Amino acid sequence: MFHAHVGLYLNSGLLSPLDCIQAAEQAYYDHKAQLNAVEGFIRQILGWREFVRGIYWREMPEYALDNFFEAKRDLPSFYWNAKTEMNCVRQAIQETIDNAYAHHIQRLMVLGNFALLAGLHPRQVNDWFLSVYADAFEWVELPNVSGMALFADGGLYSHRKPYAARRSLHQPHVRLTARAVPIQGVDSKERCRTPARSITLYWDFLDRNRSKLGNNHRVGMMYRVYDRMTDEKRKEIASDSAQFLETLN
Ligand SMILES: Cc1cc2nc3c(=O)[nH]c(=O)nc-3n(C[C@H](O)[C@H](O)[C@H](O)COP(=O)(O)OP(=O)(O)OC[C@H]3O[C@@H](n4cnc5c(N)ncnc54)[C@H](O)[C@@H]3O)c2cc1C
Repeated sequence: MFHAHVGLYLNSGLLSPLDCIQAAEQAYYDHKAQLNAVEGFIRQILGWREFVRGIYWREMPEYALDNFFEAKRDLPSFYWNAKTEMNCVRQAIQETIDNAYAHHIQRLMVLGNFALLAGLHPRQVNDWFLSVYADAFEWVELPNVSGMALFADGGLYSHRKPYAARRSLHQPHVRLTARAVPIQGVDSKERCRTPARSITLYWDFLDRNRSKLGNNHRVGMMYRVYDRMTDEKRKEIASDSAQFLETLN
């Protein structure tokens, strides 16, 4: 849960990645930080940051147009004003408005994942991420949003499986009426109460995109779970989701 909050300085050139890495390494040799923490931090900067940079320079400019799921929905206005009843989404957006910063998991599992499940247009989602975060520069923002969060590149970045599916595989006990992982919060003071509909939206997302994901063996287990539901349950999911998505327009 500890983050260095150095992205803004690194990306704007005020801080060199190598200086950060060497400072962390020194902290380990000085017995001020544990090996696993130092290794993780160095891996973020030397690994993820450079990997993302490589994706951007190898794949642009076409990468910015990728829209694997052909998502078309406009970005709902609550992304700009935090006026939504979805507690975790509201908290993550409000913190973003207040601080121009949000934790990686808020960006990925709350805001990005909602955009994926709701079928928001990648261009509009990218524009939002680029506008609101202090550390947002296109070369690092775009692959994280289009590749990691939205799977708009069809899996080039995230190894052929949308993040939404991966998380749910880790939580096979989550049922329609339970708290849903994708919109779960990170604020320990206020537990996020997730509307039952968010997990409904997850199943609806799978069903809506069967032509794109149906043959993806890494998502196959979730399709088998969905297909074992009764017709009545699947109809309920479809109508509940359609009703909810309509409210976003
Ligand atoms: C949807 C989404 C959008 C994102 N947009 C941006 C963005 O616009 N700009 C940005 O710098 N990061 C972005 N990230 C990656 C990550 O969330 C931020 O780098 C991190 O939150 C920055 O906080 P920190 O400096 O406290 O990071 P720490 O956790 O302390 O990590 C240290 C450094 O490692 C690097 N790093 C860690 N993860 C990543 C990653 N996935 N990609 C690239 N570098 C990484 C960053 O330079 C970061 O400052 C995004 C992630 C997601 C899921």
